[in-house]
Amino acid sequence: MATGKINVSVENIFPLIKKFLYSDHEIFLRELVSNGTDATLKLKHLISIGEAKVEYGNPIIEVKVDKEGKKIHIIDQGLGMTADEVEKYINQVAFSGAEEFLDKYKDSAKDSGIIGHFGLGFYSAFMVAEKVEIITKSYKDEPAAHWTCDGSPEFTLEPADKTSRGTEIILHIAEDSLEFLDDSKISGLLNKYNKFMPIPIKFGTRTETLPKPEDAPEDYVNETFEVDNFINNPNPAWTKQPSELSDEDYKNFYRELYPMQFEDPLFHIHLNVDYPFNLTGILYFPKLGSDMQIQKDKIQLYQNQVYVTDNVEGIVPEFLTMLKGVIDSPDIPLNVSRSGLQADGAVKKISNYITRKVADKLKALFNENRADFEEKWNDIKIVLEYGMLSEDKFYEKAGAFVLYPTVDNTYFTLEELKEKLKENQTDKDGKLVVLYAGNKDAQHSYIEAAKDKGYEVLLLDSPIISHLIQKIENDNTGLTFVRVDSDHIDNLIKKDENTISKLSEEEKATLKTSLEAYIPKAYSVQLEAMDSQAAPFIITQPEFMRRMKEMSQTGGGGMFGMGNMPEMYNLVVNTNSDLASNILNTEDKTHQEHLVKQALDLAKLSQNLLKGEALTAFVKRSFEMIK
Ligand code: ADP
Repeated sequence: MATGKINVSVENIFPLIKKFLYSDHEIFLRELVSNGTDATLKLKHLISIGEAKVEYGNPIIEVKVDKEGKKIHIIDQGLGMTADEVEKYINQVAFSGAEEFLDKYKDSAKDSGIIGHFGLGFYSAFMVAEKVEIITKSYKDEPAAHWTCDGSPEFTLEPADKTSRGTEIILHIAEDSLEFLDDSKISGLLNKYNKFMPIPIKFGTRTETLPKPEDAPEDYVNETFEVDNFINNPNPAWTKQPSELSDEDYKNFYRELYPMQFEDPLFHIHLNVDYPFNLTGILYFPKLGSDMQIQKDKIQLYQNQVYVTDNVEGIVPEFLTMLKGVIDSPDIPLNVSRSGLQADGAVKKISNYITRKVADKLKALFNENRADFEEKWNDIKIVLEYGMLSEDKFYEKAGAFVLYPTVDNTYFTLEELKEKLKENQTDKDGKLVVLYAGNKDAQHSYIEAAKDKGYEVLLLDSPIISHLIQKIENDNTGLTFVRVDSDHIDNLIKKDENTISKLSEEEKATLKTSLEAYIPKAYSVQLEAMDSQAAPFIITQPEFMRRMKEMSQTGGGGMFGMGNMPEMYNLVVNTNSDLASNILNTEDKTHQEHLVKQALDLAKLSQNLLKGEALTAFVKRSFEMIK
């Protein structure tokens, strides 16, 4: 038996490993299963190039928990190690790796989000074990070796009688880590980190039940038997070619990723690039609910089929973090801080690639089946609109597939919309006026009024729409957006002939004075000669003020204090309406006041502005009137 001392500069490294990585103890299993996987894949490679002349067979990795003996075994059938190799790879290479790791991360150990992503390798075993054994038999014709180390720098290395190829790691679990002897804990970890690793991973057995035969007697007891329980799917969909996969395969994989998710995704994007960096993956557009925050962090990041994290911030453009799916890349540096990640050139390229790929796919989907795309629009618009706002590259491409629906469900692209507006929605400055509603119910009367005039009215109801509108207007598109209940639409849209006013200038002045006597200061009265059938009183809000307010509420940077702006409204009075004449011609001042107040309340009601005490008083007064 050989004994020796691992060449250490830190006298006792293992307590340090434990301490620094306190929060990430669980990754020991990922590391050891990964080592087993690597050893198996290396053997496969050696066989394929004729270097190893052995039978590959159907190698698996087995994880066993021995509760009584307080041990965990991780067994692979990979290339194994000779005694010399144990000496070299475990005592020297692996150890110096662990040492280097500690040296580098001692100070940032608290930033444990990073540490979990960094492979400490074999020595992470000491985070949970007080003693570790390696029993290994190389594929080469050499005796097996048995290495033991109890966490001090001393180790023993002796021959072993193992005859089958591969490596068995035995962890003697420390008293403070006994939770890892729990089957459900281990299967939970294997499911989290190793669910898609390329070599089958066995953990225990499970009971299968045979179906009851047709002619079974009443008292038939179903036959059961034990089968090996395999944790993982070694060939997950993202590692295959898109041409090998059907729509159903993609949906099945989605269910595999999110077993608790019952709704199918809307569509998928298969990512596949090998130059200038390596990246594969599948992104899914889920049906988004109204709460965007909850949906974030559903994309899983893998490195060569080993789970790393579900925090892909910085790697995927932010607007796409609302998607789900998997990204796998050996080129994503995992051992740097978040800010380092964002500054990393390769990561930037990855992020840009994903943005471009998503835009291309959306364009293709739109062109292939526009009707289907329109149907899904409501569920995807938030992501796309947010993408236009936050990524210029995406904004540039968005013209090809971003839609602007009308209140009656006609969907225009921006170019199509412009063509349509040219017909009769141009303002005095020659700008095309996009009329839109934010809420079909709340703005119903305004929508109807605009439609009666033959105008197109869009339904733009995303929470971030005011920001997007602002961006489109500033982008020299020749468009100006006006909500249907904003400063009266007739002012904005150039008309060939003005409706003749029934009232003289003098009458108008008298009317205005009477109105202002009874109307609160927050309203500025504006007289308009309109069609006599149009509503007599209409309340509008300046587009600019309202939009700024909305923007400050939905996180418009630099819009500080806008939320405190006073409410400002216009009261537009149709001078050609019978009501206007009535108000003008009423001698009885009390009656005149009633008319004005009732009309104002009606206008408020239609703008959803009549509330509380005022609403109660209005209802009471109205009942009085019809008694
Ligand atoms: P890494 O895997 O990053 O190289 P580790 O500390 O995990 O670092 O392992 C160090 C070395 O020990 C590996 O490179 C490999 O040569 C050897 N090794 C570890 N586990 C096994 C195993 N199960 N079978 C064969 N060799 C192994």
